[in-house]
Amino acid sequence: MKQTFIFKLSTSFVAVAILCLNAHTIQAQGQPAPDHPSITVRGQTYTPRSILARNMGTPEDQTTAFPPHKIIGNIYYVGTRTLTSFLIVTPQGNILINSTYERNVPVIQKSVEQLGFKFSDVKILLGNHAHGDHQEGDALVKQLTGAQVMTMAEDVPALQAIKPGGKEHPIDRILHDGEEVKLGGTTLVAHLTPGHTRGCTTFTMKAADAGKTYDVMFGCSLRAPDRLTQANVDEFTRSFDVVRSLPCDVQLGDHGAQYNMQAKYAKLQSGGPNPFIDPATCKLEAEISETMVRAILAEQQK
Ligand SMILES: [Zn+2]
Repeated sequence: MKQTFIFKLSTSFVAVAILCLNAHTIQAQGQPAPDHPSITVRGQTYTPRSILARNMGTPEDQTTAFPPHKIIGNIYYVGTRTLTSFLIVTPQGNILINSTYERNVPVIQKSVEQLGFKFSDVKILLGNHAHGDHQEGDALVKQLTGAQVMTMAEDVPALQAIKPGGKEHPIDRILHDGEEVKLGGTTLVAHLTPGHTRGCTTFTMKAADAGKTYDVMFGCSLRAPDRLTQANVDEFTRSFDVVRSLPCDVQLGDHGAQYNMQAKYAKLQSGGPNPFIDPATCKLEAEISETMVRAILAEQQK
């Protein structure tokens, strides 16, 4: 009896997880994802569904805090197990990248406080791209902190459609490709890297740590939709070139799996050199994404 109950529970958990993955895909792309083509990059095999599952994890992963930690210089991790949020600390207040789901805002706030910072010191709120799992919480963060919300022009319509509980999506400054966001001696450059959304934004900045300066890249998802239009392909092709041209010692992403966060964090605990400084794998996510885009296109043209 007990076993049946546990079996039922786990079955329904799997069903919920599948439903959630599908819901994310349907919401993002209009139809459920087919699980082909299959690609191999640096010895690892990926399918569209495996990439989505790797990025999102379970519903619990999406809403459970990952241990907050210093990444490098003035950059800290304050997100969940699979949805990233980054806090950049400056003497004139802090920058938060990615509010994630609205229900995660208290989780992020707690992580910020656990690191010894004040949530009310968030002065600027940025986001990698206009999907709910990265920017649904913007209105609540603004309500709690008064932060200025800044977004890439091309993502404005998609962002305005994200209205949890009917709240208007706050937008205080519209960014254009190559523009800078400055606060307390830190400068972030906003690079337009479209494809996943029209205004997908990769941010770069320099971080000083132990007497050295490092190029940090906050990558935006380059995950392809199930069906590519010529406009998609043109956007992605341009974005892959942009990402490859950016200087990078530390690669971060809007999902932790894009930069192997959990494994790097485990290494951080065992001491030694900072595992987040990893130029060799800086462009891996772009390589996986580009291989997938080319494979989807090849299938479509058959
Ligand atoms: Zn997305």
